[in-house]
Amino acid sequence: MFEALSGRLSGVFDRLRRRGALSEADVNEALREVRVALLEADVALPVARDLINKVRERAVGVEIIRSVSPAQQVVKIVNDVLVEALGGGEGDDGQRGIDTNAPAPVAILMVGLQGSGKTTTSGKIALRLRTRDRKKVLLASLDVHRPAAQLQLETLAKQAEVGSLPIIAGQGPLEIAARAMETARRELYDVVVLDTAGRLAIDEALMAEVASVKTMVKPHQTLLVVDAMTGQDAVNTARAFQEVVGVNGIAMTRVDGDARGGAALSMRAVTGAPIRLLGAGEKLDALEDFHPDRIAGRILGMGDIVSLVERASETIDRDEAEKLANKMSKGQFDLEDYASQLKQIGKMGSISGILGMLPGIGKMKAQIENANLDQSILKRQAAIISSMTVAERRKPEILKASRKRRIAAGSGTSVQEVNRLLKQFDDMSAMMKRMSKLGQKGLMRGGGL
Ligand code: GDP
Repeated sequence: MFEALSGRLSGVFDRLRRRGALSEADVNEALREVRVALLEADVALPVARDLINKVRERAVGVEIIRSVSPAQQVVKIVNDVLVEALGGGEGDDGQRGIDTNAPAPVAILMVGLQGSGKTTTSGKIALRLRTRDRKKVLLASLDVHRPAAQLQLETLAKQAEVGSLPIIAGQGPLEIAARAMETARRELYDVVVLDTAGRLAIDEALMAEVASVKTMVKPHQTLLVVDAMTGQDAVNTARAFQEVVGVNGIAMTRVDGDARGGAALSMRAVTGAPIRLLGAGEKLDALEDFHPDRIAGRILGMGDIVSLVERASETIDRDEAEKLANKMSKGQFDLEDYASQLKQIGKMGSISGILGMLPGIGKMKAQIENANLDQSILKRQAAIISSMTVAERRKPEILKASRKRRIAAGSGTSVQEVNRLLKQFDDMSAMMKRMSKLGQKGLMRGGGL
């Protein structure tokens, strides 16, 4: 899913990234292309328009983060807007996966058109609940219109090694549903999955039948199954089911075959119901929980940049950074600053990981890796620095053998380690000078986008 959209967007952002500073015209041009890419991916027009407007609004007011480029920040904004469109982000209710959080027996009602993958998804859910959540699951088919459907569900139940409600010819859907719930209570099932009948297209009789089952059973979850391959039709189907039956979750199937993915992006906006599950194949284990952030990541294919910008904006104290940059440019960077830098790095995770995310800093990354700056070493280095006097921190060049021995003893380390720290401090100040130059080149002068 999403390959085509992802390909288009990465082209747009590549071009954007090649510019150091972005003008409003650059951003507008990029957004026009993003809009076309969304429409080609079969995202509903009003949804695409809304997405673009959100990106533009935020890009205009954005606060420039020193350590990343404006283009990288635009990527992050597009990412956030996608995550929200997919149902995550701010106000995310965390509704994903299968929800069985209710007193047993928990009823899950499966609704959708014929051929959408309802029966297969019922089997997948049953398998997942039995194996991962150790639930006792009962499958019941309410499809009295197609006896083959009942047999299909029975076969799936055997494969998933879960219970299936015995078929009694002549019973209607309401009777079967009542019998399923009774059986579940009597035989202590945790979850009952009710697979309703589907038709080839929306029709009133089908909707009325499903709605009456829902009224009687009052399921904890009403899951609408839609076929991602049908694109906008899936969205229209979802709208109709939402209006007449009311659903509180969506399972989107055949995402393994859909290269466009637009339906997923429109679904939340159109129905208000969260996509909870993705079906990615015919096999019973081909079921994934839907994670808006991961899907947005797949669409953009730029997760590295997104997390870089996130971490940079979360952890770097701008004032501190400014002070430091000032000191560095005056050649006043000392071991005190190095110690506070160590703390920052500790907050941001491994420095080589961070550098790896920045395009074009591969060489520096190798140097840092050689320096072997991992977390435990960072801690020992902080201990060494705290064993120094203020004068020593300010002027490391006064550190001769006897002082080094005292510091090593005071910090529980060795003279070699003290020497290594001093060498790294030198390397680090050199690297920082280079990084600050690099960072400045990537910044757009003059504020907002
Ligand atoms: P129902 O009529 O809604 O119950 O649909 P079925 O569950 O019978 O599915 C119809 C067809 O779609 C079957 O051949 C399934 O194997 C296939 N199918 C269901 N889910 C998926 C999926 O996620 N990926 C793929 N590739 N095929 C699926």
